[in-house]
Amino acid sequence: MVDRRIVPNLRWIAQRFPIYVSDGYSGPLPNGEHAGCHGCHVRHSDHYNGLAVDISPLNWSDKCDANWRGITRLALWAEPQQNEPASPFRWVGYDGDAGHGCGHHLHLSWEHAATPQFEIAEWVEVFPVGAQTGRKPRSPRKDRPKTPPAPPPGPSGGISTVHSGGVSPRGD
Ligand SMILES: [Zn+2]
Repeated sequence: MVDRRIVPNLRWIAQRFPIYVSDGYSGPLPNGEHAGCHGCHVRHSDHYNGLAVDISPLNWSDKCDANWRGITRLALWAEPQQNEPASPFRWVGYDGDAGHGCGHHLHLSWEHAATPQFEIAEWVEVFPVGAQTGRKPRSPRKDRPKTPPAPPPGPSGGISTVHSGGVSPRGD
């Protein structure tokens, strides 16, 4: 279970990388049940807002072997330089991060408004994925600036829509 606004990004990633999402939102549900993994995430984890996923290869292996090649490619795409994730990612956990990495798991979280845990973020940054209908776009998409639009000022910025124009899918 994840915030629905990152689902198109996850579909886009799943079409290009052999991912298995092992955890998304973690926390209570309105019906009193609990979603996701209990006590697996750090305090203030983006998992508590449904804006983070933990990823492993479709073909699970507990060793850093060929099954992880696609996940490593994805990790490098999302974070070309350690501790400098590409927009719109807020944090990427993989090799070099304790409890993450090849043979363990990849964590991706999306930039979003500061939000109390177990609540829906006011806004979330996503990358544009184009039409999801299977039709070909009529014209190539324009180049987009690398940097996302600035977040709304202050906690009452009032923006409730998804920012979707911030980054090209390849991050170039
Ligand atoms: Zn995680």
